[in-house]
Formats: sequence, C-alpha cells, structure tokens
Amino acid sequence: TRQFTRPLNDLANQFNTLLSAIAGAERVFEVLDEEEEEAGEQEKKQLASLRGDVAFENVSFSYEKGQPTLKNVSFSVGSGETIAFVGPTGAGKTTIINLLSRFYDPNEGRILIDGHDLREYSRSSIRQQMGFVLQDPFLFEGTIMDNIRYSRLEATDEEVMEAAKQANAHSFISSLRDGYHTKIGQEGSGISQGQKQLLSIARAIVADPMLLILDEATSSIDTITEVKIQEALLRLMKGKTSFVIAHRLNTIRHADHICVLQAGELIEDGSHEQLLIQKGFYAELYVSQFDQVEG
Ligand code: ADP
Repeated sequence: TRQFTRPLNDLANQFNTLLSAIAGAERVFEVLDEEEEEAGEQEKKQLASLRGDVAFENVSFSYEKGQPTLKNVSFSVGSGETIAFVGPTGAGKTTIINLLSRFYDPNEGRILIDGHDLREYSRSSIRQQMGFVLQDPFLFEGTIMDNIRYSRLEATDEEVMEAAKQANAHSFISSLRDGYHTKIGQEGSGISQGQKQLLSIARAIVADPMLLILDEATSSIDTITEVKIQEALLRLMKGKTSFVIAHRLNTIRHADHICVLQAGELIEDGSHEQLLIQKGFYAELYVSQFDQVEG
C-alpha cells in the first residue's frame, strides 16, 4: 500500500519535471517508497541559502551490482558557472543528474554542495534548490498560468507574467485567444515543442533556484523559436550554477567546464578551447558536427 504523508502539491513539486527525465512514473514510485522508508530524512539539514558550488569527488555508482554506470568521476563547478556534459547515449550524463538530485546516492565517493556532503541534506530541500528545463517538459492539463506557476505555487499572477516575459513566452501566450488562461491539453497538446520549452523556462524563472539542470532539446525547433529559447536560457542561467546535458556543441561552447563522458568515465575535462587543443574525443565530435553544418 502506498500512502503518502506529504501533501500532494509538495510531492508534485519535488518531482517536478524530473518525472519526464527518468524512466517513468513507476520508477518514481519505487524511489518514493525507498525515500519514505528512510528514517531520519526529515531531521536532516535544510539547504536554505546556497552559494551553489558543486563538486563530485571520486564518485562511482551502479544501478545494478557489478555493472558500474559511473566510474570514479570527479569535477567541480563554482557558483554561477556552467558545466556541460557531452558523450554518447548511455555514457552516464543523466545518471550524474540523478545523483545530484539525490534520486540515488553514490556507492563510492562524495558529492559536495557548498563544501557539505549532499547526504547531510534532505532530498526535498535539495530539490527545492533545483530547477529543470528538460527536452520534454512536464506539462499538465490546465491553464498556461497554472503550468508556469507549478514550480512555486504561491507566485502571484504578476510574477508569473513577469517570468513569462523574461522567458520570451509572453508574446506567444498573449496571441492565444484566452491568453494566460488558455487551457492546454495533456502534456501540452495544442502548443509547439519550442513553446513548451519557453513555458518550462518561465517555470524555472518563477522558482528562481540556485542550481539549474538543462537537458537540451534534440528535436527540431524552428530557428526563430530556437533563438528565443537560447536568449531566455541565458537570462535564466545568469548567476546560477547550471548543469547542461548538451546535444549540440554550438550551445556549449561558452560553458565554463565541459566534461566528456564515455561508458561512465570522465575522459576529458576542460574549456572548449582547451579540449580543441587536446585533439581528443571532443575535438573530433566538434569537427564532425561542424562538417555537417558546413555540408
Ligand atoms: P546518458 O544520459 O549519457 O545517455 P544514462 O545516465 O541515462 O546515460 O545511462 C547510463 C547507463 O546506465 C546506461 O547503460 C543505462 O542503460 C543505465 N541506466 C540508466 N538508468 C538506469 C536504471 N534506472 N536502472 C538500470 N540501469 C540504468
């Protein structure tokens, strides 16, 4: 029997759009069950105000015994910086995010936030400090206003609209017949993929978290909307520590750190320029994408 003591809103908030990033609802319930069982979680420290320094120290992790998914991964990112993860599918990029949001804890090594072991903090307090902008944003049947407000339920209509302006979403919302009160269907049917992204950026702006998780959209979005998204993301990311799972190299060129993962190992780590000089995996990937663009 699944019985949740927390109010449903709290629950929804915690799992926010990460719902769509992990394997599915069933997985969420498994994690929840484990979480409910864990004694003492409520008494843990609250992450009240955060500088936003994050470090992975020799982190190893396996979902299944004997099958390591991350092997001795170390990196650090300073407050307000952007760190991007690149690498083939299955390399472990999403797993890094799963560990950072404490869906799982490392088997070895530590994750530090502002110098403190992540395990010292409750899961809910960690997730309250995180905002997610994912490829396939979680939208529910309801008005656009409610969908944006979802990350901070006490936000006023004015705050929601201001966030939408910051997110370059205001003009498309205003052009809809019922504006902010337009009802969108399940999973956002009725609006385009790019518009969904803009709404999820607005949602993250409303919550104003110190840590951001961005999973770049892979599906094609028209050029004009793409420019709007990039512009809105830059505004959102300003002053925040951002983790980007990148699929297109031109969007990560300006990250402070780029981590290249392959089969759970961090094989290269540096700035765009440093990695190009190394002439390794990243440089090859960059050249091959560049060639494609140039035809
Ligand atoms: P990426 O985001 O780089 O594509 P992932 O972190 O999603 O990679 O996956 C890394 C590896 O872990 C893959 O081999 C994947 O199959 C495995 N994996 C991911 N999630 C789970 C899970 N919940 N249970 C078992 N294995 C998983």
